[in-house]
Amino acid sequence: MMTLKDKLGQLNLLKGCLLATNFYNFETLSGILSAAAERKSPVILQLTQGSIDYMGLRTAVSMARSAIQEYGVEAWIHLDHAGSYELVASCLDVGFDSVMIDYSEWTFQENIAITRRVVELAEKYGANVEAELGYVAKLGQPKENCGFTVPKEAQQFVEETGVHALAVAIGSAHGFYKAEPKLDLDLLREIKRVTKIPLVLHGGSGIPLATLVESIHLGICKINLATEIKDAFMRKLQEVLIVNEEIDLRKTFPYAIKSITDLVSAKLDVL
Ligand SMILES: [Zn+2]
Repeated sequence: MMTLKDKLGQLNLLKGCLLATNFYNFETLSGILSAAAERKSPVILQLTQGSIDYMGLRTAVSMARSAIQEYGVEAWIHLDHAGSYELVASCLDVGFDSVMIDYSEWTFQENIAITRRVVELAEKYGANVEAELGYVAKLGQPKENCGFTVPKEAQQFVEETGVHALAVAIGSAHGFYKAEPKLDLDLLREIKRVTKIPLVLHGGSGIPLATLVESIHLGICKINLATEIKDAFMRKLQEVLIVNEEIDLRKTFPYAIKSITDLVSAKLDVL
């Protein structure tokens, strides 16, 4: 199988894009992989620190690895929003294909320094490294606080770190949107022009389809989807449980799993 670094490099030339979806348990994992298998589409499976704490690092990664084989899909395991070098190191050790080091809330120099160290470490594993420049508001943070990526800084950042993929702040935010988000596509075009590397869009939940397509055309090679996964799963589960006294969870969970498959299939169709 192609490394994620190579795959993103290829998509960068072809103006293609991968969907990167977070999973939280066996059910969300299986829902995502069913969609990828149905659509014969590659997919990135993401884990955050919170999901790793919840499932256990080894459990999460071995379950994902086995499931990828079971479903026969092209998929990679990626660490989403790592806040420390130590977390990155332990994930690379258990076989992650890709890591994101997120020092976007630190100073520009600190962000450069740690990203460079992570790129050096990942080199030994042939792993892909993503960093974030500018600031995409996190869940629960005011969305007005996001600082857009400055192209000149992005160029310097990529040159000095050798990072493989860059998450950009162009108007998206994590979580759902109150009003339809407006992405600054001119800014995206300029960042792409000066960095030339695969760019990543975080906060993919709720961005209009046409905007997603346009952003892919302008250089986004990875779109992250997390909030909608959680939302679809729990909504369906609540809906089913209200009218259901079934105690066999194997008969109840499949409805929620199906809602993830439908959601991810619809997103894959766009990409
Ligand atoms: Zn994110």
